[in-house]
Amino acid sequence: MDKQEENKNEEVKKISIEIEDAIVVKDLAAKMEIRVTDLIAELMKNKIFATLNEKIDFETAVIVGDDLGFEIVRKKSDLERNRYLLKSKTLGKGAKKRPPVVVVMGHVDHGKTTLLDKILSTNVAAGEHGGITQNVSSYQVKKKGEVITFMDTPGHEAFHSMRERGAYITDLAVIVVAADDGVKPQTKEAVAFAKSAGLPIIVAINKIDKPESNVELVKKELSDIDLMPEEWGGKTVCVNISAKTGEGIDNLLDMIILYSDMEELKAEYGSFAEGFIIESHLNPKVGPIATVLIQNGTLSEGDFVAAGILSGRIKIMKNFLGEEIEDATPSMPITILGLSEVPRSGMVLKAYPTRSAAEAAALAFKERTTSTLGEGKVLSVSRIQEMAENGKLKKLNLVIKADTKGSLEAIVQILDTIKVSGVAIQILKTGVGDITESDVKMAQSSDARVIGFNNSADANAKRIGEKENIAFKFFNIIYEMVTYVKGELSDMLDAETVRTDLGKMKVIAIFKLPRKSAKVVDMIFGAKIEHGKVEKNAKLEIMRDGEKVGEGILTELQHNKKTVGELKSGNNAGVTFKGDILVEEGDDIVAYKEEKVKRIVK
Ligand code: GDP
Repeated sequence: MDKQEENKNEEVKKISIEIEDAIVVKDLAAKMEIRVTDLIAELMKNKIFATLNEKIDFETAVIVGDDLGFEIVRKKSDLERNRYLLKSKTLGKGAKKRPPVVVVMGHVDHGKTTLLDKILSTNVAAGEHGGITQNVSSYQVKKKGEVITFMDTPGHEAFHSMRERGAYITDLAVIVVAADDGVKPQTKEAVAFAKSAGLPIIVAINKIDKPESNVELVKKELSDIDLMPEEWGGKTVCVNISAKTGEGIDNLLDMIILYSDMEELKAEYGSFAEGFIIESHLNPKVGPIATVLIQNGTLSEGDFVAAGILSGRIKIMKNFLGEEIEDATPSMPITILGLSEVPRSGMVLKAYPTRSAAEAAALAFKERTTSTLGEGKVLSVSRIQEMAENGKLKKLNLVIKADTKGSLEAIVQILDTIKVSGVAIQILKTGVGDITESDVKMAQSSDARVIGFNNSADANAKRIGEKENIAFKFFNIIYEMVTYVKGELSDMLDAETVRTDLGKMKVIAIFKLPRKSAKVVDMIFGAKIEHGKVEKNAKLEIMRDGEKVGEGILTELQHNKKTVGELKSGNNAGVTFKGDILVEEGDDIVAYKEEKVKRIVK
């Protein structure tokens, strides 16, 4: 079923669309009955980079659907399948207990980061903790011998990152609500999101150390959004905490452990591993680095792996403390080194017994996916060449470098939607990482613009760029980059001729005929203006029996034997005409003007 009745529980009525675990972007656009480019644009706003043939997952569809006024609902069976994927039924006999994976969400400034920091600093030995130099997005803590994995949703973009980090790989959502501020829009979003992903919710009512905190009021607000606290007879576990003083945090951790015991979360240990790529980036010194959450099996150093179209061999594995490890077990967040390129976040990483098996898996994935845009690919080369050969096309050459593969694909995808007659974008080179000397050289030899997205230029590139006067353009918002590219295209476009019809007149008399030998017909006739107006220098179209038979220019206009600039409908005019045909009595003549207008790529 594509569309259902509006959901009666919603305050704002939205059209419901039912989908499965994932949906191809263009199919979703079709279900929404909107243009696919509009959907891609909406995805971009949410920093989700998907091409029209790519699949987006359910969570993503919920987010963009919401923005576009749709309620995306999942078939119940799929929802359950996802949540219970790693439960005993689908696992081998050797499956054992695994740590719960907890995602922390909440309204901005309600204390999410403070809570995660506090948990980390009080539950990881000081020496080890000191070893964490960079922000970790996922970590593990031990409480009474039980391990818990926490995942952060950075910044206030909980939703896009939830998608990227895969809501369905987490087991539980902790929603942080400040006791002095209560339920806020992002709290509601987080709750809706957790519910749509089928995640159980524990509410951490934070900042109870503050004198102005009002726990009871928060509970009332929670019950208003269908989260009735247990002590009020509902099902929602609420724990009062202070992320600042640490009060109540032990209690929160106990609740999480209690929950995971009840759920009997299990996974296999020792079998070929399967994990989920949470994030990835290119480290210029060591190459592609990916953060992976192990979901099942054990990943070991030296294992052959495939992730999407990429394959490789695990060279180095590190835990969240940055310590090298040899094996990674279920629910562990780790960083890996050994893939040939930067994998996309959201991809599944799997281990295989041999290199050839891993390579075959990557190849099979490539064949399955229809999206062919990737690093180093040139966009629609054949189309561009064809037009260039016809000499009709000007090309805007671009060299594009971006911080991640995801943003690069998104940029290429959106540039592909810019179609303007007479000019085309030709992407000469794309790549992940900073702008380098070779990028600048390529730009120089082909008069290309160099665009950087969320990155910078290395020292050599800067030096050559300055010397050769090649400017780099840096962006961190795709729309700004698109605006720049459109501006450049506009500058390349030839002005367009725009015709405006002025009026119509009927020839009532011929006053002066042209000389017979003249090449150009030069004559004077009398006409009645029937519509609009006519003016000096107007272009004229001669119509006879409803068909255009010739054209010319009105070189002089007279009214009552006086020369005038223009004449309106209802007047008789003496018209001096220069053209390519002899005008006859009874002809209809359309007067119009043409203007050159600069074209703007919108
Ligand atoms: P986030 O946006 O949800 O990550 O919120 P932060 O963790 O950055 O916290 C926002 C502000 O609230 C910071 O100034 C914190 O110091 C403060 N804060 C967080 N938790 C508590 C708390 O339990 N008590 C008090 N008094 N302040 C807190």
